Amino acid sequence: MTGKRHLLQNVRTRLTASHTLALALALGAFCLILFGLYRRDVYSDLDLKLRGQVEGVDDNLDGVLGGSRVEAAASPESWLTEVWDQKGQRLFTSGIPADEPLGRLDPACVESGPFNVTVAGDLRVRVFCQKSVTHSGTVILRGARIREREADQLNAFARTLLLGVPLVLLMSAFLGYFLARRALGPVARLTEAARLITASRLSERLPVINQDDELGRLATTFNEVFQGLEQSFLQMRRFTSDASHELRTPLTAIRTMGEVALRARSAEKDPYETISSMLEEAQHLQGLCESLLLLSRADAGQLLLHRSPVDLKALAERLVDHIGVLSEEKEQRLLAEIPADLFVDADVQLVKQALGNLIDNAIKFSPPGTTVKVTAADTGGAVQIVVTDEGPGIDAKHLPYIFERFYRVDSARGRSGNASGVGLGLAITHWILRLHGGHVYAVSEPGKGCQFTLEFPKGSF
Ligand code: ADP
Repeated sequence: MTGKRHLLQNVRTRLTASHTLALALALGAFCLILFGLYRRDVYSDLDLKLRGQVEGVDDNLDGVLGGSRVEAAASPESWLTEVWDQKGQRLFTSGIPADEPLGRLDPACVESGPFNVTVAGDLRVRVFCQKSVTHSGTVILRGARIREREADQLNAFARTLLLGVPLVLLMSAFLGYFLARRALGPVARLTEAARLITASRLSERLPVINQDDELGRLATTFNEVFQGLEQSFLQMRRFTSDASHELRTPLTAIRTMGEVALRARSAEKDPYETISSMLEEAQHLQGLCESLLLLSRADAGQLLLHRSPVDLKALAERLVDHIGVLSEEKEQRLLAEIPADLFVDADVQLVKQALGNLIDNAIKFSPPGTTVKVTAADTGGAVQIVVTDEGPGIDAKHLPYIFERFYRVDSARGRSGNASGVGLGLAITHWILRLHGGHVYAVSEPGKGCQFTLEFPKGSF
């Protein structure tokens, strides 16, 4: 419980951290752009004046060069203007500072636009250089203006951003954490509800608040899984109880017969008759166990198919020979009318069992004097084997269930002393066809007999 809560908290923290990081990156980029634009704006006025100051000297270059080498300042704003020749000699200075605060001239300064310099320790100025051609050669003009006000403005702006951004991030992290908590609340509730659904409470379902959102879809999917599990559990329970019931009956019969025989001693009852009845029950038990084993192996996916081309005519004729004794006993006619060269790609033993179950049922449930017919045909996409009888038929309301395990239309009618009669024959046939990628279906009208069809996909034939 604590572990789960811890994990949720982690998801919450991770969500908050990632969204705060994304916001920090976006805000950082935004502030850089904003600061750049603001800086350009702040300096544009100063640069205009600086260029004007340099242009002013440039316009009077001949005059100023003809005068004294060092002149007095014009105004405090137009802090300094100098004219340098190409040999690095300063020809003219106009400005407040008497010394040379900007130092020697770097001729490369004409390449760039106005730039910032801090002079005399902490005086912030903006400098601009420009080339000019005079009658005595090329000179470089260097102008500088004080930018204290602009620099202070920019610093104040930067301070606001540096303080504001972390504040916004902090607020957004708190808000994000709170929202993540709210958003993950239903997950915690789902976890709690799912935890309560155990094998004994599989009928319960998770609450679906809004089935169109992600959590609603998650809960719906879980509910579908629970429903499937519940059905499998119910099926398993029913199967186990049916199987136990079916096993108990012959076992009780064997025990009773043994006890009665023991009590009566040899004189009164023929022991061979008792042994024969016991063997009959044992045979029934064996058949039942084999059917159960086959079904459970099929369920577990352990039933392997050994496919080969199966000659249907030969197979049906062998089966008719084998089961024919039963139909003769009941004075029924058993016919196989199958064209030669009709093959299916299947496991011969399993096809034999599937078809055998159908013929066996047809004989078992039809009255004397009727005919059971086995036919087969190639329908193009599939091969169909059809078993038709003239028995009592099956009511429409039972038809959807006859392939279920242990389902019998009339349980009193079936049992004939062999493996069939417990309601597993058709379930096994159904599985066999399913394993082959085909299917089995029944058509019947009460009083008019039944028609069972095994349909195999044609495969390579
Ligand atoms: P069983 O072991 O009882 O034969 P099956 O699974 O083979 O079990 O058949 C299930 C039920 O379907 C039977 O109990 C019977 O009621 C009905 N059924 C199957 N085949 C026929 C048939 N040819 N005619 C009438 N009823 C049939």
